[in-house]
Amino acid sequence: MEIKIVKTDHPAQKPDAATLGFGKIFTDHMFVMEYSHEQGWHDARIVPFGNISLHPASTVLHYGSEIFEGLKAYRRADGKVQLFRPMENIRRMNNSAERLCLPQINEEDGMQILDTFVSLEQDWVPAAEGTSLYLRPFLFGNDETLGVHAVHNAVFMLIASPVGSYYKEGINPVKIMIEDEDVRAVRGGTGYAKCGGNYAASNRAGQRAEEKGYSQVLWLDGVERKYIEEVGAMNVMFKIDGEIVTPKLTGSILPGITRKSCIEVLKEEGYTVHERLLSLEELEKALRDGKLEEAWGCGTAAVVSPIGELRYRDEVFTINNGEIGEVTQHLYDTLTGVQWGKIADTRGWIHPIG
Ligand SMILES: *Cc1c(COP(=O)(O)O)cnc(C)c1O
Repeated sequence: MEIKIVKTDHPAQKPDAATLGFGKIFTDHMFVMEYSHEQGWHDARIVPFGNISLHPASTVLHYGSEIFEGLKAYRRADGKVQLFRPMENIRRMNNSAERLCLPQINEEDGMQILDTFVSLEQDWVPAAEGTSLYLRPFLFGNDETLGVHAVHNAVFMLIASPVGSYYKEGINPVKIMIEDEDVRAVRGGTGYAKCGGNYAASNRAGQRAEEKGYSQVLWLDGVERKYIEEVGAMNVMFKIDGEIVTPKLTGSILPGITRKSCIEVLKEEGYTVHERLLSLEELEKALRDGKLEEAWGCGTAAVVSPIGELRYRDEVFTINNGEIGEVTQHLYDTLTGVQWGKIADTRGWIHPIG
């Protein structure tokens, strides 16, 4: 694929690592290409970062046809830049696209876009401990009509934001509220697709949890409100009586790449890992019997996020004395070790840039 490059005349000052938050600062350029039914994907280009213009009837603004991905570029101690399992993101984006009737992108073209873009912006990958360049590919329907149908025109873009360390003050376990009213997704719906609408539907519960002093909610399944699904926008895992249990991918759960990587590491190390239905009832019993040893969320942003407290209605349970557990810490050290190149990559997870 040919990618045209138009460089900015006004490169911005790189931010100080101490001021980095999440997704507030963007790099000098962005990638854009358009899709039409007749031409397929065309006009692939990297241009100066800036606002985009849309027809007021554009599909995405009315019917929410939008999907996205999230991955990071990491700077190693030797100065080189690398990605973590990027082909997994490209494949997942295509699965999301299929669900929302958006056009898919050829896998090799997807890799070429990531390679070309990150290579051009590599000075934006920060070097301080725990920092990275967050990459946000996204794809949306852009027909200029209010008619409802599978889209004929779409746009794919890639933007990037240098982000700070998720754990500047150390890894502190979070307090989570079990949500039994709102649901995030249902089987047959879009739960397994990384689409913007899922987030719009999650916001109310997240906001209510925050008002009560909790950082996120534990989602239950949308049919029976009986089985554990995810925590906030992360997958969730538990250590119960020495074994690892994580909800199986039934269609309403997002297939996380961090989740998959945690499972692979744990199995390699001899842990028994169950991907199965896990009911709230079973979880409550394990809590009461003192058998719930660890609980953590996992996703690209935090890698792992230990859960120190779970609240269900008016009852509050503490997990592992509110401290990070051994398995959670080990997963954090292993995955971040590979991502930042401190540990040898024995699994083919690393994609070097340049
Ligand atoms: C992105 C996401 C995850 C985590 O996926 P990773 O590939 O590990 O970053 C989990 N749940 C939801 C709802 C997500 O959107």
